[in-house]
Amino acid sequence: MAYIPWCLRLSPVTALPNPPPATSLWAPHPASAHTDGEAHRQRWLRRTWQLHFFVLLSHLYAFLLLVGFCIVGYVPEAVLGAYGLWVAGGMGFITWAYASGWCHKRRDPGLFLVHQAVSILGALGLLVAAPQVAFQALVMLIAFSADGFLARSRASFAATWVLTLLAVAAAFFWVGPHMRMPTDALPGQLLTIGVVLGSVARSIVLVTFFRGMQYRLSVANDKLGAALAQIETLVRSDELTGVANRRGIMESLHRQRELADRSQLPFCVALLDIDHFKRINDHYGHAAGDRVLRVFGALLAGHTRAVDRIGRYGGEEFLVVMPDTATAQAADALERLRQQIVAANWTGMSGVPCDMTATIGVAQYRAGESVDATIRRADEALDRGKAAGRNRVVVETIR
Ligand code: GH3
Ligand code: MG
Ligand code: MG
Repeated sequence: MAYIPWCLRLSPVTALPNPPPATSLWAPHPASAHTDGEAHRQRWLRRTWQLHFFVLLSHLYAFLLLVGFCIVGYVPEAVLGAYGLWVAGGMGFITWAYASGWCHKRRDPGLFLVHQAVSILGALGLLVAAPQVAFQALVMLIAFSADGFLARSRASFAATWVLTLLAVAAAFFWVGPHMRMPTDALPGQLLTIGVVLGSVARSIVLVTFFRGMQYRLSVANDKLGAALAQIETLVRSDELTGVANRRGIMESLHRQRELADRSQLPFCVALLDIDHFKRINDHYGHAAGDRVLRVFGALLAGHTRAVDRIGRYGGEEFLVVMPDTATAQAADALERLRQQIVAANWTGMSGVPCDMTATIGVAQYRAGESVDATIRRADEALDRGKAAGRNRVVVETIR
């Protein structure tokens, strides 16, 4: 019978995107670009037709088995004819609804309930009208009802199962004593094997379909995870210089403070400000200033330790967090950095004819204080460095 492709019969339903408002796969998302919505729609249409084709095939298979049972004498011709007309009518209607676009105006564009009604009522009718082939009818019912879990809502799912179970119970009371699995002669045995084969094949198709879907979902999930990680990075990066932005460096600083409070290890905060940077903008333009800033960021990244965290604190001011470092060591390391800045080939690297220097203020974190307090002391040191003539490293005053 119709089991193999039957699994796919559900799928037109599942694949059917919900109608416009919320979770629609098919209807263009209100906020998404028109082309995205159109692509979804086209994908849905293609999938729906493919699945519908398999559903039709599965009905054909089921019907051919019934024709066999009819020829052998288990199913009356009138029952075969009525069943055939019912399914042909139902499938014809669904095909028309898909082809004409009528289904798109429905709340359930996949016509899940129509599919289920045609299949389940057809099988129930067969069960009552031809109890000699009850085995086939029951296998069909199990297959169709199982499709119910693809319903758009739990209510449809529950309704499908409860109504089917009630109807089956009623049929058992009604025609129970006449129900048969037609295996008393070879033709019946072969046809019944056909029913079992169909149901096994249907299960295989169903499992393959869901495994494919699971795979596609996991691939989509991985892509989403990678995109999220990229967004996370972007949110904390400074677009111009490539070092952390203010949010990123402040997060590092807060993390370092928590670590230091736990470990009692010292750490330092350095504020670096490019000297007379405004002159670059004034003489060569903002774009030239940007190139100089980029070079400064690269110099910082290249001449600090891997454990140090660098960020653009604002404008032409950068902040360096130096873990496990007390003021004296920090001052030494920053002095070497300052010399590297002086010695750098600024003109070659930035394309702007200039030689830049930077003034650096450094402060050590004091247990329990806020990060703002540490930064404030580094900033005071920086101000003193500027006032003293720039291009120098100044350590906070210990009061
Ligand atoms: P000082 O030695 O006292 O630090 O002088 P300065 O010229 O470096 O400092 P000032 O604060 O007077 O000027 C900083 C300039 O940096 C002003 C601002 O327009 C410029 N600036 C801030 N952000 C950017 C940026 O992203 N790109 C460019 N090109 N310029 C920037
Ligand atoms: Mg400056
Ligand atoms: Mg400044």
